[in-house]
Parts: sequence; structure tokens; C-alpha cells
Amino acid sequence: MNAISGADGRRSGVATAKRVVVVGGGLGGLAAAAVAAARGHRVTLLDKNPWLGGKAAVLNLPAPDGSGSFRFDMGPTILTVPRVLRRIYAEAGRDQERDLPLIRLDPQWRCFFADGTRIDLQEDVGEMARSMDAFAPGKGYGEGYRRFQDVSRKLHDVSERFFFWKPVEDLFDTLNFRANMNPDTLRDVMALRMGQTMAKVIRGHVPDARLAQMLDHYCQYVGSSPYLAPAVLCSIGDMQAAEGVWYPKGGTRAVAEGLAKLAADNGADLRTGVEVTGFEVENGAVKAVRAGGERIACDAVVSNMDAIRTYRELLGGKAGGRYGRKFKPACSGVVLYLGLNKRYEHLGHHDFVFSRDAEEEFDFIYRRGEPAPDPTAYLAAPSGTDPSVAPEGGEALYVLVHTPHLRPGQDWAKIFPAYRQIILDKLKRTAGMEDIEERIVVERHLTPQDIHERYKVLDGAIYGLASHGRYLGAFKPGNRSRAVKGLYLAGGAAHPGPGMPMVMMSGWIAADALDRDLGGRGMGTAAEEAGQRDALKQPRRALAAE
Ligand SMILES: Cc1cc2nc3c(=O)[nH]c(=O)nc-3n(C[C@H](O)[C@H](O)[C@H](O)COP(=O)(O)OP(=O)(O)OC[C@H]3O[C@@H](n4cnc5c(N)ncnc54)[C@H](O)[C@@H]3O)c2cc1C
Repeated sequence: MNAISGADGRRSGVATAKRVVVVGGGLGGLAAAAVAAARGHRVTLLDKNPWLGGKAAVLNLPAPDGSGSFRFDMGPTILTVPRVLRRIYAEAGRDQERDLPLIRLDPQWRCFFADGTRIDLQEDVGEMARSMDAFAPGKGYGEGYRRFQDVSRKLHDVSERFFFWKPVEDLFDTLNFRANMNPDTLRDVMALRMGQTMAKVIRGHVPDARLAQMLDHYCQYVGSSPYLAPAVLCSIGDMQAAEGVWYPKGGTRAVAEGLAKLAADNGADLRTGVEVTGFEVENGAVKAVRAGGERIACDAVVSNMDAIRTYRELLGGKAGGRYGRKFKPACSGVVLYLGLNKRYEHLGHHDFVFSRDAEEEFDFIYRRGEPAPDPTAYLAAPSGTDPSVAPEGGEALYVLVHTPHLRPGQDWAKIFPAYRQIILDKLKRTAGMEDIEERIVVERHLTPQDIHERYKVLDGAIYGLASHGRYLGAFKPGNRSRAVKGLYLAGGAAHPGPGMPMVMMSGWIAADALDRDLGGRGMGTAAEEAGQRDALKQPRRALAAE
């Protein structure tokens, strides 16, 4: 077992300090630990793996010719909504921009389509609209994109007011129908466009199959099909246009390291190599966690383990079955980490190499439960932004293809070799990387089975639980458990869902909820302001590391 703990030890002298155990050190668990510790609680975080950060892990591979090494972020690579990080740092009285500098990326994605055309997703809505008009002249797609972004902004506003920064499990947690059912609330509910799918709203504004496929991929941040996901997820378009896409200096791994340091500096005891095997419940409240032979008494537990598995395996009882029936896992994926002796100058930092047919691809992954025969590949080619990721002239190329979550009888040891070839052929065919196979000098991969085992998730899911359902698809198990007192949930399978900003927000929500429930001091003004959307209305470059 390894342990990191703050040099100044736990903060003492806080009258309301309670014992908080965090199960799992993914970004959600680390965010919860940092915030709870900053609020003066005595935090112990336990992760079964030998590293902290969960999916935000790093892989270093030496180049065989001794010219240096390749560094890969193994999981998340696209960071959005940085004000979540800003609030977490502000909770601890720290300045995120100084401690964890971020570089703004614009264009945000480079998109390669199966018909050989390309377009860059740009941050500025007006510039993007003009690019769409140049891409398909005379069709009015630019104007459609502007209107799509207006809808997206409205959905983002409603999300901010009703879903974000609070422990929500269903509509009743967020809307007080008796007290609030006035015309304003009704307008907000109508704005959610309940009953419409994300794919329908996108195509209603931008009917071009290629441009719609690009906008569909906002839904890939939550590992769900835009044909099954509710319209409210179109809000991601505004989150990305208004708040940018960022690369943390040192890679996304720097986020995990930054949060761990923040928690440890505030006295949290962060232990790796410790698996939690159960909770001890007395009179309907969690009193302790069991980790191997050890019993750790606590006043509150934040579980960053998958929500359904937390209920099934750590708590036991009926809740696991109930949540298991209500929710299905999000998609899984295959990741290739390719150390190349060449930099492809025509790639952007983030690239999507799209399938020939969006509907067919989503149908394979989400309905049939089979890998798509012509998949979309997401590429991260970070060496242009950060030359330290590869030896000179090389690239640490990361290739992610979404696949179904694990299905009975699927053996990825057998499926992988042929699917790897399908992916490489796709890059040759659609992304102009004809010589890629000769350029690989070192290689590793993850399959859905590896993801399942490494991160202890539900059926290999990358992004927690699927956001499927036209009406209520955005809801997830709430952060304050209804099944037992003192249990809080954080992570991709808890509210408000997966992806780096959302899981860190879920960690903040869990810590804030337990702090309020235990009579803590609550959020300070600096953190309150740092997390507000207006905080972004400052000059762009002031946010970026030059
Ligand atoms: C390949 C890939 C690409 C992705 N790309 C992006 C992206 O570009 N942008 C983005 O925003 N998001 C992306 N994501 C999603 C994002 O990484 C996740 O939503 C987020 O990191 C999950 O954080 P989490 O808090 O849910 O914890 P996880 O990362 O799932 O970590 C949970 C931790 O809990 C530990 N644990 C579980 N059970 C126990 C137990 N019983 N005892 C002790 N420890 C336990 C595990 O070891 C693990 O460390 C990607 C994910 C993957 C895998």
C-alpha cells in the first residue's frame, strides 16, 4: 500500500470536522476528497489501483531506438468546462490558472468524412457558421448552425439552473412542481424539448449528413447514441463553444495529479492499492467501510466506484437490483496507443475520422451490441501542442473507437486482432494515413475487457451509464443516496454524468452535500464566483498559458 498525505497533516481545529472515506480515486473521487478536505473534514481516500486518477492514467513507452519516449494520456483527452476545476481549486483557496495551466485549443476538432471532405470545428459560432456555408454553399447550414447554438445555449442555461451543482436524482429533486409551477418554470421545461432526441434537433437545424454527424459526436462525451439521447444533451454544443476545449500543460494526467495534490495539501490521506469490499450499515446509516481486513469508521462515504456496482457489491440489499433495472451501461471502446516515427502534419490535436453512415454505426454499437464494421475513430495527436509527448519528429497517437459495452460471449482477446486492422484500414482510407502501419515503432492497447478490469466499471463502460430515453435520459443515480444515510455518489455513473467536467462536478456535489448534511461550513464566496459561467467572460488569453 502506498500513501500520500499533506505535509501539514490534517487540518485541525475545525469544530465540524467529520471522518469522510472516499472509495476510488478517479477524477470524481479526487474532486470530492479535495473539496471535503478543503472544507476541513478528515478525508481518507482508497483506490484499488497503484495509481490515482482512475481512467485519467498515463502510459510511458520508451522508443526502441533509444531516441526518447512516448507519453500517452490513457483515458480522457478533451477537457471542457474548466470552471468546474476553477471552483474546486478556489474551494482550497488556490488559483487553478496558476497551479494547473490550460492551453486553449481552437480549432477544437478536425473532422474527416468518408467522402474525402474535411472541416474544422471552430470555437467561434460565427466563424463556424461561415465555414459551414463555404463547405456546402447556398444551403443555409451556417444559419442553421447559429440557430442550433441558440437552442444549445438555452438548454445549457436550463441545465445550469436545474441540474448542475446540486444532488439530483429525478425531476422531483430539481423542480418543486407545487411551488414553482409558474409560467417561467413551464417555459424552462418546454425549452428542454422533452420527447425529442438529440439527433432530431441537430438534423432539424443542420440537415447535411456530414455536419450533423459532427454535431452528433457531442453525444460521444457521454458514450450514448444521439438517436436515443434526449435533446437536452445538445447543451454540450454551447458548453464547448462558450467555454472552450483545453489541453492541460503536461496532458490530462496533470488534472488527476493536480487534484491529488490539492487534496493531500489539505490533509487528505490518499492510499493506493486498497480495495474496498463492503460497507457497514447500522440503523440505516453507513458507519464504516471494509477494505480487506481493515475497518475504517466514518461519518460519510463518497463512492466513486460505479454507482450500480456500489449498490450491488458494497451496500447489498434491494437498491442494486432497482438501479440495475433502470439504467444500462454506456458504450465501451478500444484504444490504440501508437508510438509513431512520423508526425502527420495534416492532423489537428483532436481529430474525428467519421464512419460512412452515422445511423448504421450507432445502431451497431447501441442496439445490436456489435462493433461497427466501419467505425468512427477519434484521434489525439498532441505533439503539435506539446512536443514532449514523443521523440523529435514522432507522434504519440491515441486512437479511440467506441464499441458496445461487454455482452455475454464476447471474447475481446479473439475479436481484437481483426478489429485493430479494421481501425488502421479506416485511418488509411479516410484520414490520409496510408503508411501508418510502417510508422508504428511501439504499441499498446486497451479492449473493453481491459477497461472493465482496470477501472472496475459496469460491463466495460467507459462513460458510466447510457443517457438514453427521450424524456428522462439525462438523469442518473443521485449523489445523495436515497437507500442509506451517509452514502454519497460521485463519478461517471452518478449525477450529472460522465466526462471530466461532469465527474469533477459530481465530486464537488457529493462533498458539498455531505458537508451540508454534517453541519459543515458550506461554499465560500470565492468558490461560488469561480464556478459561475460569467467567470469566463474575461479576455480569452487571460485564461490560457502562453
Ligand atoms: C478511453 C477513454 C477516453 C475518454 N475520453 C474522454 C474525453 O476526451 N473527455 C472527457 O471529458 N472524458 C473522457 N472519458 C471519460 C472520463 O475519463 C471519465 O468520465 C472520468 O475520468 C471517470 O471518472 P470517475 O470519477 O467516474 O472515475 P474512474 O476513472 O472510473 O475511477 C474510479 C476509480 O475507482 C477505483 N475503484 C473502483 N472500485 C473500487 C473499490 N471497491 N475499492 C477501491 N477503489 C475502487 C478504480 O480503481 C478507479 O481508480 C474517457 C474515458 C476513457 C476510458
